[in-house]
Amino acid sequence: MGIIGESPVSGRSITLASVPSQRRIDTFLRDSVYAWRQNEPDICDFAFGNPHEMPQAAYVEALSDALAPRNEQWFAYKTNEPEAQAAAAASLQRLLGLPFEPADIHLTTGGFTAIPLALKAVADPGDEVIFTLPPWFFYEPLLLEAGLVPVKIRCDAETFDVDLAALGAAITPRTRVVIVNTPNNPTGRIYPPSLLKDLADMLEGASRSNGRRVYLLSDEAYNRIVYDGARFHSPAEYYPYTLLAYTYGKTHLAPGQRIGYVALPPAMPDRGALREALAALQMALGWIYPNALMQYALPRLEQFSIDIGELQRKRDLLVDALTGMGYRLQSPEGSFYLFAHAPIADDEAFVDALAQRGVFVLPGVLFETPGYFRMSLTASEEMIQRSLPVFAEAIAGSGQAKEKAT
Ligand code: PMP
Repeated sequence: MGIIGESPVSGRSITLASVPSQRRIDTFLRDSVYAWRQNEPDICDFAFGNPHEMPQAAYVEALSDALAPRNEQWFAYKTNEPEAQAAAAASLQRLLGLPFEPADIHLTTGGFTAIPLALKAVADPGDEVIFTLPPWFFYEPLLLEAGLVPVKIRCDAETFDVDLAALGAAITPRTRVVIVNTPNNPTGRIYPPSLLKDLADMLEGASRSNGRRVYLLSDEAYNRIVYDGARFHSPAEYYPYTLLAYTYGKTHLAPGQRIGYVALPPAMPDRGALREALAALQMALGWIYPNALMQYALPRLEQFSIDIGELQRKRDLLVDALTGMGYRLQSPEGSFYLFAHAPIADDEAFVDALAQRGVFVLPGVLFETPGYFRMSLTASEEMIQRSLPVFAEAIAGSGQAKEKAT
């Protein structure tokens, strides 16, 4: 029998469960119209970056091939498989033009583990970590779990860029890491090289005046999901003290099969100490290496991605249709998402009204940015077509609809 009045759960789990953004997400996933109706055939699901069409044959073949054992050790304990590290390093070199070393690829079960692993390698409890709003909604719980102190700054409302003045004002002697996410979830913004250069200068200056290095954590979950032939630039090209976090879950739209990594750029000083730190943490955090199967598949997974042209066509279809109706939004340059102004101030009421008609999007409050909503471009084209009359009707009642030309 439990001791009377004693909580069965730890203080840490109570803290995590009570983060407001987490409570909202949790309720949305478990106890909302979306939770009850998401598998009904006629809904239009723009809520999360999940697949709504059958997986690519190449993906299934890569995993099937990796399944056939080549030796007795095929399913033995694995750390970082050298072939996987080499393939990931070569791919990063092609993408960014930096000669990453295979030994600097630390394989993880997706970006979700790469991020806290990188943070814990450089930051101690009590250290401050800065990120921009609207954010990926899991930064805050990941930071709190690590005993780190979240410091939030708003992005530039016009451009969705990092607001460098706000960043400068937020840096303190306790700042240890700044998280940057480009292409951005949820805004779709790709940060331009000039911004990344200024950001690097600012972090170099702050490190000098603090007498302690400020690291940059570059969350590059979407670095292969870019539109209009845009060239993606990583903060690692400008600031050597950058830890790069990546997941294959977006590139193949298969986030249930977990693999990603933390990469240390070749110009990073003290890489030896960081390599050891990352290896020690991966064991102590519960052997957070990807499954053997995913590691064997990685060299083949590096050879293709989902159809970016198709995503871009869906983006164009949605952006043209919604702006034609009077919705205010910026066309996303990359990532899976479109972040638009809600036509009424109460984004939750707007999202509920869409949900009543079977169209599911996320309210801005989940991103600490009321007055907006987020849609995922991973919905099928058929869902997009079916949703358009619902969006037209939703804006019609708000007074923001565009007058039809006569
Ligand atoms: N960072 C960002 C910005 C994301 O959007 C996501 C996934 N939604 C992740 C990290 C984590 O990716 P994964 O679930 O594939 O580990």
